[in-house]
Amino acid sequence: MSSERPGPASSSVEPADLAARAARTHVVVVGGGVGGLVAARECAKVGMRVTLLEAADDLGGVIRRVDLDGVVLDAGAESYATKGGYVRALVDDLGLTDRVVTPQAGGAWLAGLPGGGAAPLPVGGILGIPGNPFQDDVRRIIGWSGAWRAYLDRVRPPLTIGHQLSLGRLVASRMGEKVRDRLVAPVTTGVYSASPDDIDIDVAAPGLNAALTRVGSLSGAVLALRGENAAAGAKTPGAAVEGLVGGMSALVDALAADLEELGATVRTAVAVRRLATDGTGWRVVVEEPAGDTDEEESSETEIAADAVIVATSEQVARELLAEAVPALAAAEPAPSPEIEIVTLLLDAPALRTPPRGTGVLTVPHSHTAKALTHSTAKWAWVREAAGDREVVRVSFGAQGEPAVTASMDDEAAIDLARREASTLLGVPLTADQVLAGHRGRFVQAQPASIIGSGERRTAAREAVQAVPGLAAVGAWLAGTGLAQVVPDATGEADRLRRALLWD
Ligand SMILES: Cc1cc2nc3c(=O)[nH]c(=O)nc-3n(C[C@H](O)[C@H](O)[C@H](O)COP(=O)(O)OP(=O)(O)OC[C@H]3O[C@@H](n4cnc5c(N)ncnc54)[C@H](O)[C@@H]3O)c2cc1C
Repeated sequence: MSSERPGPASSSVEPADLAARAARTHVVVVGGGVGGLVAARECAKVGMRVTLLEAADDLGGVIRRVDLDGVVLDAGAESYATKGGYVRALVDDLGLTDRVVTPQAGGAWLAGLPGGGAAPLPVGGILGIPGNPFQDDVRRIIGWSGAWRAYLDRVRPPLTIGHQLSLGRLVASRMGEKVRDRLVAPVTTGVYSASPDDIDIDVAAPGLNAALTRVGSLSGAVLALRGENAAAGAKTPGAAVEGLVGGMSALVDALAADLEELGATVRTAVAVRRLATDGTGWRVVVEEPAGDTDEEESSETEIAADAVIVATSEQVARELLAEAVPALAAAEPAPSPEIEIVTLLLDAPALRTPPRGTGVLTVPHSHTAKALTHSTAKWAWVREAAGDREVVRVSFGAQGEPAVTASMDDEAAIDLARREASTLLGVPLTADQVLAGHRGRFVQAQPASIIGSGERRTAAREAVQAVPGLAAVGAWLAGTGLAQVVPDATGEADRLRRALLWD
């Protein structure tokens, strides 16, 4: 575990003064998801007094643990992108290197093809865009007519004026709607919970537009970019992920343990209701939990702070910051779809040899479920934990497509997930095969790759940064995903602590 104390390369402040100043500075972090935990740790590392307040009973936010009849695994986020190396560096720094694992090979399938069919997701593409439309696994999904339409891309001249930002529009115009709807849309819905039309190709697949201009066709650009990535030893965008044995909640536990070691105060079941500043300090109004007896009601108290880091979802952050950052109120919040994940522990020997690889994506609107992960096929450690039982995770809901389970009680949601799992995996699954089930509700912050997301996030960030002693972190500002949230929270906490200690 690192005990390094970061500081500026050249500072006129004496180290002893700096330490005293840090110890006098109280930072309150609102929200104990990964963004808040990382930001709190950065402040505690330099000796600041840190209090982290989390409204829920457990830390972790979207990283949640579920115990299904003794099988403990992730109910929410289950892996991280290796891109940039930021999450892995944190994992290593926290002493979790031995737990790092990669998913099992096996590939994913696509369900919801016309006629109700399913087929393996083609290999060799980028975000579902094929490099060769006549490849067998591609043609199986888009048919001969789709393949010939996609081939037109090879003979059409590339765009000469500017370039198309929308992934969906570019794919449809060059390779046809079948490629967009059957190959690309399942990937963007599964990965980003968003339609391909809303995805900014330059963010989701950097270099693809430039390769299109250079090579002259989109499918050619896919092949060229994959070749360049392979030559540079890099993975195709979005392809490389890692997980942790025991689940991503091991990261949350390690962050919490490190915070404790660094002397920070971490409180759960304490919701922040209001933030007020007089320009020099902050008053943080919190709702304390009720006592043990039924008669006792929750009460409000105030905590004084020199600085505040807001690390909640966008909606809560905007409410808390409405007074201190009026500029935030001017901008519309980004749409944040509600996602539900139902995790099932099954007695299903028929799934022992995985029928659909590590999971299934669906053609949008073909099924009520958006995607399925066969966890016991994807992660060797889950297989070991589950013994002779199977675990699947069925997800519902995407941008503009509310989760059908949202209005159901847990029992109905679990039963629907079972039926969807049966269809998606092509294996009969009866109600008595469900040994345990869990439904998790989540709000998905906007991915960084949505068109216009960059400008929106920059505007919000600048408005927050203009207020002294204030920072905001988390997926709504960084873009969804641990590989976005972790480096962003580190950077923002660093900006704040420099302003407080060294400016
Ligand atoms: C279903 C789902 C699956 C995902 N899977 C992956 C994955 O596999 N890999 C990946 O990289 N990314 C994944 N993501 C994205 C990633 O998990 C998130 O981007 C990231 O965890 C968000 O962290 P955060 O700290 O910004 O927010 P959150 O995790 O939402 O944390 C915010 C915290 O603030 C607390 N809070 C809210 N209001 C208050 C208040 N008033 N007072 C105090 N506390 C408050 C909340 O209880 C919560 O704990 C997934 C997202 C979803 C929704």
